[in-house]
Amino acid sequence: MRLRNIPAAAPAIAESEYCMKNPAELKGIWNRVYGNDFPIHIEIGMGKGRFIMELAAENPDINYIGMERYDSVLYRALQKMEERPLPNLRFLCEDAALLPDFFEKGEISKIYLNFSDPWPKDRHAKRRLTSRQFLERYDQVLSDDGQIEFKTDNQGLFDFSLDEVEQSKWNLDAVTRDLHHDAQLCEGNIMTEYEEKFSSMGNPIYKMIISR
Ligand code: SAH
Repeated sequence: MRLRNIPAAAPAIAESEYCMKNPAELKGIWNRVYGNDFPIHIEIGMGKGRFIMELAAENPDINYIGMERYDSVLYRALQKMEERPLPNLRFLCEDAALLPDFFEKGEISKIYLNFSDPWPKDRHAKRRLTSRQFLERYDQVLSDDGQIEFKTDNQGLFDFSLDEVEQSKWNLDAVTRDLHHDAQLCEGNIMTEYEEKFSSMGNPIYKMIISR
């Protein structure tokens, strides 16, 4: 998601208590941020934050982190949070490639990837958030029983992701090529901004859940 540059975004993020600065200093002690020992779930590339804010409101016994690398995009989530603060949610304006610098092994229990950028050119494959390079980074921060949930409407990215999973130590726990017509996997589904947009255009939504 790219939005035009919003000059107010960077200073608002720098000042906000909901946006964690210097996350490498929190490595291994994230639970101090929330003041409890609840599991931590993270959405990478949260966009404007609709999905993770709904999850956080529904699940007060889980701590959430919304990660988004563009400040003008994260700013939209921050504005919503300021209207309706959620004690179990924090934001990180960072690149997901740095995850192992920010979290200790096992510190994260679940990773959500929703409508990640497809990077269609072959030479950009390693930038895809489901590439083997990223799966390796997730391996370094997820708990042993941790899961990754990935949704997209992009068939090429989904097929690529299935191949990457097959060629790695990850296992496919669940998969559908039409989430909104899969009664079991759709139960409790929370729509993201892109999911609403693309499904209303008639695109089927693909989903996989993986673990090691
Ligand atoms: N999850 C939202 C937005 C999807 S667009 C939704 O489903 O509606 C994908 C988002 O991921 C963009 O906002 C993009 O800036 C962000 N993103 C892509 N690569 C990233 C990375 N390496 N680290 C952090 N955010 C990333």
